Amino acid sequence: MKEINLYNTLSKKVEPFVSNEAGKVKMYTCGPTVYHFAHIGNLRSYIMEDVLEKTFRYAGYNVKRVMNITDVGHLSSDADSGEDKMLMGAKREHKTVMEIAAFYRKAFFDDCDKLNIKTPDVVEPATNCIDEFIEMIQKLLDTGYAYTAGGNVYFDTGKLKTYYVLSNQKEEELMVGAREDVEEDANKKNKTDFVLWFTKSKFDDQELKWESPWGIGYPGWHIECSAISIKHLGEQLDIHCGGIDNVFPHHTNEIAQSEAYLGHKWCNYWFHVLHLNDSTGKMSKSKGDFLTVPLLEQKGYSPLVYRMFCLQSHYRKPLVFNYDVLDNAKVAYEKLVKKTASLAREGELEQEKMAVYQEEFAKALGNDINTSQALTVVYDVLKAQMNDASKRALIEEFDSVLSLDMTKEALENKADESLAAYVEDMIEQRKEARKNKDFARADAIREELLQKGIEIKDTREGTTWSVLS
Ligand code: AMP
Ligand code: ZN
Repeated sequence: MKEINLYNTLSKKVEPFVSNEAGKVKMYTCGPTVYHFAHIGNLRSYIMEDVLEKTFRYAGYNVKRVMNITDVGHLSSDADSGEDKMLMGAKREHKTVMEIAAFYRKAFFDDCDKLNIKTPDVVEPATNCIDEFIEMIQKLLDTGYAYTAGGNVYFDTGKLKTYYVLSNQKEEELMVGAREDVEEDANKKNKTDFVLWFTKSKFDDQELKWESPWGIGYPGWHIECSAISIKHLGEQLDIHCGGIDNVFPHHTNEIAQSEAYLGHKWCNYWFHVLHLNDSTGKMSKSKGDFLTVPLLEQKGYSPLVYRMFCLQSHYRKPLVFNYDVLDNAKVAYEKLVKKTASLAREGELEQEKMAVYQEEFAKALGNDINTSQALTVVYDVLKAQMNDASKRALIEEFDSVLSLDMTKEALENKADESLAAYVEDMIEQRKEARKNKDFARADAIREELLQKGIEIKDTREGTTWSVLS
């Protein structure tokens, strides 16, 4: 097992990573709140977490990674006030909350696919786990860590010896009212207490509600991640990740309630990605025309250029987005792909020489996920005294982590895959149309494919297709 050193927000230092169970990593990622498109800032976090996961795999670990989908409970202020984000999305688009969730969940994974971000092993929407939330909240009430007030259930942070385990928050900074968007909640015993279950909220029109021992209501945001993590990864978590804004209150509250519930330490390593900002400051989905992957595509940038842009910087440094820097990444990316694509395939692998670079690459990633250093190793390989086949093999291997599609055939395969998926979907739709005797639609589909240079034939074995030359 290769050594990986990581900055741990819990200990506030870089430490060697040691998993609870030899050879296995249990990893949890806070997923998106699916009320709008993800902006490229959100996706910076997911790209760097993807590199982290793939680094573990490269080092030989068997990884189980779980991610939630927040489709209920996240209010516009992380401190339990403001409007429900999902409801905001539904109102904005005159749709139901579940329609909004389905649409933006798909949009999120489409972006991830384009950025070569692997889908976690388990993806769990919060609305699937209401029973688990209720069970956890009930135990917190039974053991005195939670109380009911004004119809809601709150976590009592006053019951903990230490609450600020992740950040050195100053109490005054957290004073209710000090932050514009935080309103006083007279029900709270301590200002840092947070809602586990809302019953009497100010939103009479909350669309999604469930029965609970405390009345009809819905869960708070923080409880989601604790319960979903424990459901799929058990009582001990190796590593938890998210963007830096999640340190407080979200992750602080996750630790408080998980450890109160379990009665022991929960998660050993906390990995946080610093923000991507634009020239005006923090990126925000409320800023009208915010930056998304489809917008970059419209402007002529391949999503992988954005991945390259992210990999050129360290995840623990804030990154400012601007098109000049993205243009530089584009030039660098295109040059890199061109060079790797021209490497000959034939030749015997020079294993001994290759080992030196494999070592360097693992060292770069093991050095707190130093992706720019890892990219330097790729350039070193290209310059090395080694035959083309060895260079190509090394770069393909490194691409299992960097996922930049650095070899041309990977790009071609991707195009082939999406073409095949598209044609097969059209064939399926045509079959459905014919079943419904909608022959006009069936003919229109055949015509549309033909226009795109794709011919379909109905045979005894089913419909086949080919690209016209
Ligand atoms: P959300 O969908 O708002 O819950 O956020 C999804 C993820 O993106 C979380 O891990 C956030 O911490 C992270 N995030 C939010 N804003 C940024 C940003 N500007 N740069 C990087 N990550 C961010
Ligand atoms: Zn979370």
